[in-house]
Amino acid sequence: MLRGSGRWASQFKNLHKINTKNKPPFFTFSTGTDSADSKKSQPSSAPPPIQVGFTESAGRGVFATRRIGAGELIHTAKPIVSHPSLSSLHSVCYFCLKKLPNKPLFQRDGVSFCSQGCQNQSQDFHEIEKRADWSTFDDYCQTHGLKYPLLVKRFACLVISGFASASSLDILQPASLSPEMIPLMEKEFWLLRSTFQDADITAEQLVFLTKQWYSGVLARIRINAFRVELACGSYEDLLSSAAASVEAEGAVGNAVYILPSFYNHDCDPNAHILWLENVDARIMALRDIDAGEELRICYIDASMDHEARQTILAKGFGFQCNCLRCSSHQ
Ligand SMILES: [Zn+2]
Ligand SMILES: [Zn+2]
Repeated sequence: MLRGSGRWASQFKNLHKINTKNKPPFFTFSTGTDSADSKKSQPSSAPPPIQVGFTESAGRGVFATRRIGAGELIHTAKPIVSHPSLSSLHSVCYFCLKKLPNKPLFQRDGVSFCSQGCQNQSQDFHEIEKRADWSTFDDYCQTHGLKYPLLVKRFACLVISGFASASSLDILQPASLSPEMIPLMEKEFWLLRSTFQDADITAEQLVFLTKQWYSGVLARIRINAFRVELACGSYEDLLSSAAASVEAEGAVGNAVYILPSFYNHDCDPNAHILWLENVDARIMALRDIDAGEELRICYIDASMDHEARQTILAKGFGFQCNCLRCSSHQ
């Protein structure tokens, strides 16, 4: 397993940079356009103050369409696909990754949910999933410390159940898979495919599940999946004087989103992604951002030194970082 791959976006210590004096951070929702600034009571369904455009050096990027204040919630995002980590399987909701009470009320076929709503939303893909015996597949992932095949498995179940399109992730940038990863990936692919076949999923239902589809999805998940770490505490806790020491518990799972994946990396980011109680991501401004400025998040643990950051970014994400902080070797 390649350490450092997958996005690690929770540098909660960065929160101390937020200036909370003048405005209520987090709660301000975008009013969408400059002209809408005067209409203070815009509904929260207004489009976020961002647009996706092209950067000079990093391809696609996300830009502010108006001034965004420090601490402002820029937008939220629901995942296309998510999965609890195997170690969190019985402590978080199988659908939304919310921490479960000691005695979960909503259990079905060996998995637990935080609510009836999550159980209902899981019904279609779980109907497909529970038809198969996943013990060999899960054991393989457990033994090899693999987390991404679990996301592909759930994505495949979503596709078979008609809940997602097989091409839903195509818009994301793929990682280039190294030659030594190909045989490992093929093994995962055959395990996944044979598990479905043994469960009497028809050839027609599995027509999308080719080696090419698997490798394309895995290559996208590899660099676009976020480690989901739930922040301890509430909005208020995050904003309190203790904000600088707010810590996240360990990762409860992994998830892939579309819009959050369009943010480029910076080792001294102006935006930040966090999870409060479940897999729904919140992207917020870490400092004041001008209209037209590119919004960047940090893909890795920003507290690492220059050399460690460069190594992980090159290995896990395939690029050399030329951000201001790296340029000055900080
Ligand atoms: Zn839930
Ligand atoms: Zn950098």
